[in-house]
Amino acid sequence: MSEVQDTTNNTATDTETVMPGRSKRPDPASTPSTPLRGVRLNTPKDIESHHLFQPLLYWVATAGLSPADICSPIRGILRNQKNAEVFMEEVTGVDVQEQRVLMGDCSVPYDYLVLATGAHDNYFGHPEWEHYAPGLKSIVDATSLRRKILLAFEAAEIETDPEKVKELLTFVLVGAGPTGVEMAGAISELAHKALASDFRHIDTRMTRIILIEAAPRILAAFPESLARKTQKRLVTMGVEVRTGTPVTDLDEHGVVVDGERIKAATIIWGAGVSASPAGKWLGAEVDRAGRVIVSSDLSVPGHPNVFVIGDTAVAMQNGKALPGVAQVAIQGGRYVAAVITDRIEGKELNKPFHYRDKGNLATVGRSYAIVDIGKIRLTGFFAWLLWLAVHIYFLVGFRNRLVAIFQWAWEYWTYSRGARLITFERCKDFFAD
Ligand SMILES: Cc1cc2nc3c(=O)[nH]c(=O)nc-3n(C[C@H](O)[C@H](O)[C@H](O)COP(=O)(O)OP(=O)(O)OC[C@H]3O[C@@H](n4cnc5c(N)ncnc54)[C@H](O)[C@@H]3O)c2cc1C
Repeated sequence: MSEVQDTTNNTATDTETVMPGRSKRPDPASTPSTPLRGVRLNTPKDIESHHLFQPLLYWVATAGLSPADICSPIRGILRNQKNAEVFMEEVTGVDVQEQRVLMGDCSVPYDYLVLATGAHDNYFGHPEWEHYAPGLKSIVDATSLRRKILLAFEAAEIETDPEKVKELLTFVLVGAGPTGVEMAGAISELAHKALASDFRHIDTRMTRIILIEAAPRILAAFPESLARKTQKRLVTMGVEVRTGTPVTDLDEHGVVVDGERIKAATIIWGAGVSASPAGKWLGAEVDRAGRVIVSSDLSVPGHPNVFVIGDTAVAMQNGKALPGVAQVAIQGGRYVAAVITDRIEGKELNKPFHYRDKGNLATVGRSYAIVDIGKIRLTGFFAWLLWLAVHIYFLVGFRNRLVAIFQWAWEYWTYSRGARLITFERCKDFFAD
């Protein structure tokens, strides 16, 4: 294994490695066969060079926003933070004895390590389903889904067999959490409004959108009253909602649910997630979703200088596991930064991590949302305005905020989708070894 040496003048206590986006500058001279500072971008699946605002991914997947509107380059975000360095590499393990983060045949040392490697879709023992029912986790997922959705309409336009046309115009969403619900609403508006006048041989308003949920109701994380209203709203938008019915099989032609075969050319997975393999790297205890069970200060039991935060960890509060949402990740990140700073300064922060629940929001279509903040429960247009304000606030970068506001205003009045591009990837591995 090549060693990546520290070439800075950092003392032992000020080396903090945060994944992704690590510190420690590698010395190319020490890594002749695997030059980390040269370009070695074989674009592994999980690696991205940008910060991504996942809550708006479904807007990219349904052509409402462009990828750059919800992404910001990590390097640019950290431009002015001179003590942070960014390397685009895939972490493959952690050597907790030697205190090194492994990246294939390279490694970097750490004094403190913060792992925040997120989660990926869980196909519950059917990894082969991923091929037919892609999920929505990354910008590549979103642009691939956009292509798949738009191509289904294009294929239907030239298809002459009516049965085949029906299959092409049927969209199945597996899992009725916020992702499934928001996608269902967005596909409905795309098909029933945005595309309605654009085709000559098909009527896109005949598009069938089916949302399938194994649990007895949709939106398990929201109060039942809000979930009920959301379901009503979806039905008025032409979405078929089936609850208490798990998908038992699926392939390229559709899904099997409740013993019934539903033919569908597009299946989208939003039924569950598993954590990144951080638990395996650390040899730490994990829960059923593979999340590392962390202590009250978000460190890994037995390794006080290793922290795991966000979707790849599970922290308990009042006897309950904290949910895999952005606020838990953000607040966890801030807390751990304070713990490490205090330790470096010789102070001990004894306060355990305390998550402050700021509420839940979800949207269904262009002017309807549900809001659950403390005792406040809202539905409808005002809830949607609040949803809009919150999402614009959390978008990184002035340009992105401006574009998003403009796109939403434009789409609100015209129903048009500005990013209706069908793009194909030609060359993936520009700089492969
Ligand atoms: C479609 C969608 C909609 C959502 N909507 C909401 C919402 O409305 N509200 C809300 O609160 N939450 C929402 N969430 C959840 C929220 O986005 C996550 O909880 C949050 O992003 C978790 O942050 P994280 O830093 O733990 O992980 P992530 O944001 O997933 O970041 C993990 C990063 O680690 C990188 N990585 C993974 N493996 C490796 C490796 N081996 N080496 C190097 N890098 C690696 C990944 O590329 C990624 O950049 C949504 C999620 C999705 C997918």
